[in-house]
Amino acid sequence: MKLTNINKRFGNKNVLKNTTLEFPAGKTTVMVGPSGSGKSTILRSLNLLVMPESGQYDFDEHHLDFSQKISNKDKLAIRQETGMVFQDYNLFPNKTVLGNIIEGPTQVLKQSKKEAIANAHNLLTKVGLADYGDAYPNELSGGQAQRVAIARALAMSPKYILLDEPTSALDPELELSVLRVLLQLAAEKQSMVIVTHNMVFAKHVADKIIFVENGEILYDGTPDEFFAPDNPNERVKNFIASMT
Ligand code: ADP
Ligand code: MG
Repeated sequence: MKLTNINKRFGNKNVLKNTTLEFPAGKTTVMVGPSGSGKSTILRSLNLLVMPESGQYDFDEHHLDFSQKISNKDKLAIRQETGMVFQDYNLFPNKTVLGNIIEGPTQVLKQSKKEAIANAHNLLTKVGLADYGDAYPNELSGGQAQRVAIARALAMSPKYILLDEPTSALDPELELSVLRVLLQLAAEKQSMVIVTHNMVFAKHVADKIIFVENGEILYDGTPDEFFAPDNPNERVKNFIASMT
């Protein structure tokens, strides 16, 4: 998927200025950068939760021009193909874990309940929560809740999973349980875009790193080069030093 020359303004602030970025399929792209730099705005544009004022978005057979009205058909298709995972999980509090996971597949994909439940059980096993189908979100730790949110996103079989600081709300020991799941998904070549402040994780999981500061893309390339001690880019070096 690819964004070309996108512009996004909030009030009189130009958050994204002619931003062009590619997110390769089958790879994990990690976006890093200081708070307020525009990472969530980019991620949300990929899911059309944020609508840039102009620019193009190419995703498989979809070719969107943000200066034109986006058709509902394109919107629905792209939202379905880009599963979002948020920092604060956003689980439905009044539904069980299983209920949370089968909601989209039964309501949107029109899967039978039986099929959706069977798939949900597989996904819960995958995220290490096989026995938690009947639990309610408030009975889960943050790490468990986030793994349910990941299973819920996967249940829609999206082409891409978009994760916005998925472990920022978690204590380090709970964070690890979520990072393990993401590492496994990366190993399975699940297409992902992850925003994170965890530089050790970024280095391990990323096929590609994007560094955003003040809406500017200051780095777009391999993690090896990004984290190289002799990286000539002072702003990159200062940022990594400030994070580790
Ligand atoms: P990051 O995710 O890197 O912390 P964001 O993309 O959330 O950055 O925000 C980039 C800038 O856009 C910030 O200055 C933020 O205050 C502003 N912004 C983001 N979303 C909104 C919004 N819905 N309304 C107004 N300003 C926003
Ligand atoms: Mg953000």
